[in-house]
Amino acid sequence: MYEDIKRHIRDVKDFPKKGIVFKDITPALADGKCFAEIINIFYEKFKGVHIDKVAAIESRGFLLGAPLAQRLGCGLVLLRKPGKLPYTSYKVSYELEYGSAELEMHVDSVSKDEKILLIDDVLATGGTMEAACKLVKKAGGEVVVCAFLIEIAVCAGRKKLAQYAPVGAFLEY
Ligand code: AMP
Repeated sequence: MYEDIKRHIRDVKDFPKKGIVFKDITPALADGKCFAEIINIFYEKFKGVHIDKVAAIESRGFLLGAPLAQRLGCGLVLLRKPGKLPYTSYKVSYELEYGSAELEMHVDSVSKDEKILLIDDVLATGGTMEAACKLVKKAGGEVVVCAFLIEIAVCAGRKKLAQYAPVGAFLEY
């Protein structure tokens, strides 16, 4: 099952810059059976866990987070790049390999003590997901799990996230 999904994930060398092997999930999304299987794997893993909302990271996290939220019967929260959200937002800055980036979340999208499942496609250094954890905490929410389809183990992102919540990743590279 996991091997079949792996066959639908394409390695693109030197994208978006030299030295990076980009994990391209578009072939997995384009195959209806594979896409459904991915969402089903997340659903089966988390259906017994108390989760109030799924919070998804722009942009590929949205593609996994929206169908998962529907299956779980949860609300969906969008964690977006700067300047995209229309209403008052919390903002967290984080370091990238070169330079920095920011992630934003509407101040009213997570309430105090709500249990949040965070989701993105790929875990690399963990910096993006760490910023997501900080946003949820700012709103008083509780991160129940950081979920990923793919983990690039050599980047050690799991270690960075250990202080926030358990990490659930299905495909390890
Ligand atoms: P990081 O903050 O280093 O864990 O990077 C994770 C974010 O960057 C996620 O939103 C991923 O979609 C994206 N990303 C990082 N590395 C890759 C990669 N090798 N292939 C695809 N996406 C990646």
